[in-house]
Amino acid sequence: MAIKPVIVWFRRDLRLQDNPALNHAAETGQPIVPVFILDDHAGRPMGGASRWWLAKSLSALDQALQAKGARLILRRGHGLSELQRLIDQTGADTVFMNRLFEPDAFEHDAEIAHALKADGVTCRGFNGALMCTPGTVLNGSGQPYKVFTPFLKTLLATVEVPPHTLGPRRIETVSGLDSEDLEDWGLHPQTPDWSRGFDWTPGEDGAAAALSAFVADGLKTYARDRDFPNRPASSRLSPHLHWGEISPWRAIERARRAAGEGKASPAEAEKFVAEIGWREFSAHLLHHFPYIVDRAFRPEYDAMPWRDDPVALEAWRRGRTGYPLVDAGMRQLWTTGWMHNRVRMVAASFLIKHLMIDWREGEAWFWDTLVDADLASNVQNWQWVAGSGADASPYFRIFNPIAQGQKFDPDGGYVRRWIPEIAHLPDRWLQAPWTAPAEVLRDAGVRLGHDYPRPIVEHENARVRALDALKTVSGRSDDHSDRD
Ligand code: FAD
Repeated sequence: MAIKPVIVWFRRDLRLQDNPALNHAAETGQPIVPVFILDDHAGRPMGGASRWWLAKSLSALDQALQAKGARLILRRGHGLSELQRLIDQTGADTVFMNRLFEPDAFEHDAEIAHALKADGVTCRGFNGALMCTPGTVLNGSGQPYKVFTPFLKTLLATVEVPPHTLGPRRIETVSGLDSEDLEDWGLHPQTPDWSRGFDWTPGEDGAAAALSAFVADGLKTYARDRDFPNRPASSRLSPHLHWGEISPWRAIERARRAAGEGKASPAEAEKFVAEIGWREFSAHLLHHFPYIVDRAFRPEYDAMPWRDDPVALEAWRRGRTGYPLVDAGMRQLWTTGWMHNRVRMVAASFLIKHLMIDWREGEAWFWDTLVDADLASNVQNWQWVAGSGADASPYFRIFNPIAQGQKFDPDGGYVRRWIPEIAHLPDRWLQAPWTAPAEVLRDAGVRLGHDYPRPIVEHENARVRALDALKTVSGRSDDHSDRD
């Protein structure tokens, strides 16, 4: 009798190296059927930028599998029924998969494992996405952490960085299986194709190249420069990590190795590790407090008197608020599918506090337009900015978009790149064009209200309005102000 194959169900682990599910499948010595199932009904529907990324990453994974003698079977439909169909076709007795930890996906996986077990098929799940499985990093009383710093300390004390694995040298597979055509899935935007400015290389090789470039270049000044949007100091690994094209362990190990070899200081490497720690903290919070997907972690913040202002929301989305740093960020997002972290904070704060528009509107826009859109990280960060999250920014922190621009884009390189219509303004006026004298505007060829908008809200009035509302909902009467 022929040996039964096993199935490796790829999801957000689109790599061959350091892939626990694939490694365990290979250890069985049975033929492997690699499959990806596009399930439009599982979890929150993917945003447009994520769909773009997925198409490219699946294609890269298929090529990598072909180089090993296999290929990626593509199916579209309900996860369970497609797996059952594949099991019927191949006689597979085990499904190997790396688990997803978002609450809906977690439950969905459990249902699938249960149903397959009833069919006599074993389902084996692994953690390929996070340094530590959510639920394993708890405080001394066995409770989930709500504050980042002690969480990180325990996380780093708990994590065991597994040895680097290259994956199987050859993959014996099952031939003759039907597979859908990636082109038919319509993941790439058509009319219009807004992805033309996307300068990314999705896939495992692209992830490895991004990590190597960062370790060779950005890491040594990471702590100092990572807040400056015009300096190439951060890794740009976020979409690769989201899609599991590289494991967090590998990123950490490479950064620490570089520090060990004197290519960066240990402090720089540990700052980078701590940022990956924020990714873990986000996943951990969502796991323990699943309601934060669309409700405030601190329930009192759900009483915020949000404004319904579709015109202002659209101006924010399109980068036409009149505040150059905010607009530059929103245009970078639309054009490239990514925005620098510092500018994400300023742009999010502007929506929530200056415009007093519900953070969920901003979260939804980021979800649709970010190539690294990640439920846990997006929700956690939006709530951090809103002040409603666990270990959030204090409610009275209202980023001043002008001062932030002057501090973090001091020579205006970032703003000039994304807002060419004001590029000729001298540095002094660049972050607040409406304060420039008429002749300065004229000499720079700027007609405010025509080429570039006047501010859609006045900063100081907006700040006071938001502070009043936030003080009321948070039950705080102390008068703080934060003018950074
Ligand atoms: P680096 O500075 O090189 O950091 C390394 C890695 O650490 C990142 O790739 C990322 O995986 C992780 N990381 C860094 N900062 C954070 C953070 N604050 N929270 C969680 N993980 C972090 N990140 C996402 O991956 N997906 C999102 O949907 C997302 N939405 C965000 C929304 C808002 C409002 C804000 C303020 C931040 C958001 N972030 C999100 C976090 C952060 O902006 C990005 O992870 C970071 O900009 C990615 O760039 P990088 O890979 O160069 O980061």
